[in-house]
Amino acid sequence: MKCKSCSAPLPKSGTICDYCKHNNPLNLYLLEFKEVPLAKRDNTFLECPKCSNRLIYLNIGRKRDTIILYCQKCDGLFISHEALENTLEEYIGEKKRQNNHKLSFILNHPRQNRLSKNNKIKYLNCIYCQDIMQRKNYHSNSGVILHQCIKHGFWIEAGALLQLLEWKYLGGDKKPQYKEYLSLKYLNEKERQEASDFINQFNLKGQNQ
Ligand SMILES: [Zn+2]
Ligand SMILES: [Zn+2]
Ligand SMILES: [Zn+2]
Repeated sequence: MKCKSCSAPLPKSGTICDYCKHNNPLNLYLLEFKEVPLAKRDNTFLECPKCSNRLIYLNIGRKRDTIILYCQKCDGLFISHEALENTLEEYIGEKKRQNNHKLSFILNHPRQNRLSKNNKIKYLNCIYCQDIMQRKNYHSNSGVILHQCIKHGFWIEAGALLQLLEWKYLGGDKKPQYKEYLSLKYLNEKERQEASDFINQFNLKGQNQ
């Protein structure tokens, strides 16, 4: 992964570039987004369920509006069920390139864990109704755990949305024999390097297909 501002490689953990100090939020890395002006939304004050930071309203839709609530401190975001599906479809759609080795690599190197210092299981409250959210493996085989309020949507932790986009891009949702990949832990060095290079340079915006 490269810094968007100066193209230096980002540190192994964290999103702040060592060289230019630019912050590269992982969840927004592949997305086009703009902040929603106050006049165009309700002005309810909503807090991050993880760090109590005030959430901002971002529009990440390309063809139609898709509003998410984003935490600038921890990179987590809240998105409705429908908006998540639309986003995966809108950004990946037919661009998929199935590749078992790369899929295996990302499943074994979850971005989601990259930023959290401990992996303690924590249940979070929904930002709207304050109910305890369930922890749910998206699509049962993505390896990405989301927090879900049945009524309102998902809380997606740092890096997990990026991982979902990559997973879909690599055909993860189309692979019934997926379980094999989890056991395919040992890539040879060349395959590992290839997968790793691919993930580091991953940039959907630059690809036309
Ligand atoms: Zn930089
Ligand atoms: Zn937060
Ligand atoms: Zn709720």
